[in-house]
Amino acid sequence: MSSDWFKRRFLSSGSTARRGKDTPQPQQLQGGFPKQPQPPLLYRRPKFLHGASDTGERQPGKRPVCCPSRDRPLQWNTGYAETINAEKSEFNEDQATCCQISIRKREYGKEEDQEWLILCSAEYLTGYYWALFDGHGGPEASIMASNYLHYCIKQKLEDVVEGITENSPPMHLNGQCVCQSDPQFVEEKQIRREDVVIGALENAFQECDEVIGQEMESANQTGGCTALAVLYLQGKLYVANAGDSRALLVRRQSIVPLSTEFTPESERQRIQHLAFMYPKLLAGEFTRFEFPRRLKGDDVGQKVLYRDYSMEGWGYKTVVKEDLKYPLIHGHGKQARLLGTLAVSRGLGDHQLKVIETDVEVKPFLSCIPKVEVFDLTTQNIKEDDVLIMATDGLWDVMSNEDVAQIVRNFFQDKATDPYRFSELAECLVEKARGKKDGYYWTMDSNIPASYDDISVFAIPLYNKEY
Ligand code: MG
Repeated sequence: MSSDWFKRRFLSSGSTARRGKDTPQPQQLQGGFPKQPQPPLLYRRPKFLHGASDTGERQPGKRPVCCPSRDRPLQWNTGYAETINAEKSEFNEDQATCCQISIRKREYGKEEDQEWLILCSAEYLTGYYWALFDGHGGPEASIMASNYLHYCIKQKLEDVVEGITENSPPMHLNGQCVCQSDPQFVEEKQIRREDVVIGALENAFQECDEVIGQEMESANQTGGCTALAVLYLQGKLYVANAGDSRALLVRRQSIVPLSTEFTPESERQRIQHLAFMYPKLLAGEFTRFEFPRRLKGDDVGQKVLYRDYSMEGWGYKTVVKEDLKYPLIHGHGKQARLLGTLAVSRGLGDHQLKVIETDVEVKPFLSCIPKVEVFDLTTQNIKEDDVLIMATDGLWDVMSNEDVAQIVRNFFQDKATDPYRFSELAECLVEKARGKKDGYYWTMDSNIPASYDDISVFAIPLYNKEY
């Protein structure tokens, strides 16, 4: 599928990004992206809030917790809540999407050297989708991702629909042979339907990243975002993560992490290896080695601990002048930065991002490809209180998995029959992480510092779905 086909298909009819009044209307985008600079996207909150917090203006000193209206429940009775940061940035840079994805079967034909495509009008498969995006460098990338990623996923799944509806993925799609050499290939490689869905999700993230890059360049904007997306399809949850948001299944007796975070520290070896393979990317400004601290002139000639791309352990290296350059990855924990610039190592956007006062581009070191975890609900004895918590790092900065599980279990003890309990749970989690304003500071219980970041939480009930 060409990228142009995608743009015609989705940006011409599916885009709901709002622009200024002189913005070309969607049909004017047909035939590819416009070359002229575009006015910036207008800021908005998630569509399912229906304008409940859509002012785009923060109230000084206030961090209201916003939830969907109770008379407009989200799919599966999902709970959602959000609050803005403690004046860290002008806007709430988190975004969220929650929607159904209808996958249709395609039929292809050929007539007089022209290929044609029919999208059958009837729905073929239904998926359910939830996603959180955490923007940096402005809210634009997270708004675009919240508008486009589900369209990309829908389209990529439709591209391979035969591969995900048959028990074993076929060798051929749409009558076109994809591999003639070895009829046992699928069996030998043990390729399952879920592997084809995972591939579609990975390709969808990549497609969305390209679209964001072109849109941002066209509008002369910068910025990026993390992306955490959950797709329910054919009885399975697919959790795709690129960034530092997190999905956690909380059950009465156990907790099941369903995502892993991607930070400069967790991806140190991949990033260092890239710098080893392509040293020009560092433009002589950085060293790819990791040292316990920033080295100084006095360290030259000394032996210090170090790590390179090939090492999980540590070695000793005699310091040379080159080692005094700024480290490719510097700092620890939440302070760790890639090229002194970004706190995450995967995400969407950031195509134009350069290290300040240099020509060093950050994008080559960022990956837009998610890690996809699969959780098969059909093999689990799912209970009424089993809940999937999705949240941006604003929550996880101040709460561990165990903290969240404790809050969830305590909360459900008194709410066994409350139909709004998942909505109230999301609200409760955001309120606890935001804390209360105490003079100048925001604090949680026991005077622990609260989260100063944007906080967004989905609480998704898993019981009694049509597995
Ligand atoms: Mg954040």
